[in-house]
Amino acid sequence: MVLIELYTSVQGESSFAGMPCIFVRLAGCNLRCSWCDSEYTFSGGEKFSIDQVEQKIAAQSPVKLIEFTGGEPMLQERALLPLMDRLLTQGCTLLLETSGERPLAAVPKAVHKIMDVKCPASGESGRFYLPNLEALTARDEVKFVLSDRADYEFARDFIRQHDLAAHCGHILLSPAFTKTPTGERSTKNCTLDPRLLVEWMLADHLPARLSLQIHKFIWEPLKKGV
Ligand code: SF4
Repeated sequence: MVLIELYTSVQGESSFAGMPCIFVRLAGCNLRCSWCDSEYTFSGGEKFSIDQVEQKIAAQSPVKLIEFTGGEPMLQERALLPLMDRLLTQGCTLLLETSGERPLAAVPKAVHKIMDVKCPASGESGRFYLPNLEALTARDEVKFVLSDRADYEFARDFIRQHDLAAHCGHILLSPAFTKTPTGERSTKNCTLDPRLLVEWMLADHLPARLSLQIHKFIWEPLKKGV
């Protein structure tokens, strides 16, 4: 497996937000989202065997919540899926952050998938692998990162058209974060005002939850490894 970084922090997003978590960030991504905050994962990284990654996780901290993120972790599924099986047998709770572009049917059902559906302003809308909706379970979460009203309407229509609430446990609407934030830990760095988003969600009675990237409010917005 090619790793960019492995560290312990608190989970910044999803229904697990605020919980201590070990992050395993894998190298490589086949998308190029306009607002991507992980471009440093596109190249480089260090190669490790599955055994070595397992040992690194065990040595990291006693925390049993582990997130695989990237980049796009499913580009390394041949190593990732056996590692997930091992960690699940050790009683770990696993999260998988994925773009939704790779097929997810082979991911162990006990893993909590946090799957994006890319919206138009990302520049990668249309890359979603639609059969992934059938691979979702009640423990999974679907995330839309929103830059503007057009993104919101795309998400709203997708949620309704696919009866998304029936396919997963949580639907997350997350305002995109600007690529050139001020040093301030402030919602001014969101490209879509969270208050506006909440007003739209309530007006449309959407079965979704607001998701802020809380690590960008706890630490300075550009800080890595947190
Ligand atoms: S899928 Fe994730 S890592 Fe890849 S370009 Fe988009 S935001 Fe960045």
